[in-house]
Amino acid sequence: PLAIEVRDLVVRHAPGRAPALDGVSLRLAPGRRVAVVGPSGAGKSTLLAALMRTVEIESGHILVNGVDVTAIAPEEVRARITGLTQDPYVFRASLRDNLRLAGPQAGEEDLAAAVRRARLSAWVAATGWEATLGEDGRTVSGGQLQRLALARALLYDPEVLLLDEPAESLDEPTADALLADLLDATHGRTTVLVTHRLRGLERVDEIVVLSGGRVAQRGTHQDLLAVP
Ligand code: ADP
Ligand code: ADP
Repeated sequence: PLAIEVRDLVVRHAPGRAPALDGVSLRLAPGRRVAVVGPSGAGKSTLLAALMRTVEIESGHILVNGVDVTAIAPEEVRARITGLTQDPYVFRASLRDNLRLAGPQAGEEDLAAAVRRARLSAWVAATGWEATLGEDGRTVSGGQLQRLALARALLYDPEVLLLDEPAESLDEPTADALLADLLDATHGRTTVLVTHRLRGLERVDEIVVLSGGRVAQRGTHQDLLAVP
């Protein structure tokens, strides 16, 4: 089955208000990555909230690996979908200890120590983070915090990863570098990336443009942004 299949999703934040999502559909094959872009108020955060099941769905369906998540408990959804928040929690401790203290999400069992160690050392090797591990989590940059949050999320090998504006509030070079690292680290993992930056999106499989709660355009970076 598809990793994510959103069908005709309608979400309204309050009765009588215009829907924040007005019939959005999205299909994502396993291991593919989609970037959801669009202006402020387009419905990007609402789509992520619907995938996390933290908002009520008025109509439509969300299937994750064939399971209709509109029909199961939110705690069960957590075990399948892991999101990175814009403002990750960090202990006043080294990044190494922050990684060691990463805990399971609700509904998940904690990992065996050996699995945890193996996944963390693979991640550290892949990202060249050895030199960074001793830094205090409270003093590192926003980019490093997002990398910490991603490492914590990947520790639990989620079926679907959601990234919510990871490069928000970073300066351009830092944002470019972070996005490149995130796209390296999520290669082959089903990922929904919400962003309002178009730079660096050559590497995602599809770009969906939301506007006013509807899909205005969708296609590859080449389809949408190549110079005619
Ligand atoms: P984006 O993430 O693309 O900026 P949002 O999903 O945050 O868009 O917002 C879509 C629409 O829903 C906007 O009109 C916004 O004002 C409204 N909205 C978002 N969150 C809430 C909320 N918690 N309560 C009421 N309205 C909301
Ligand atoms: P809405 O709530 O938006 O009116 P419906 O319940 O009418 O949506 O479903 C829309 C379409 O999706 C229908 O063709 C329905 O048969 C189909 N559908 C609904 N739920 C599922 C599901 N869990 N798996 C596969 N198809 C479904």
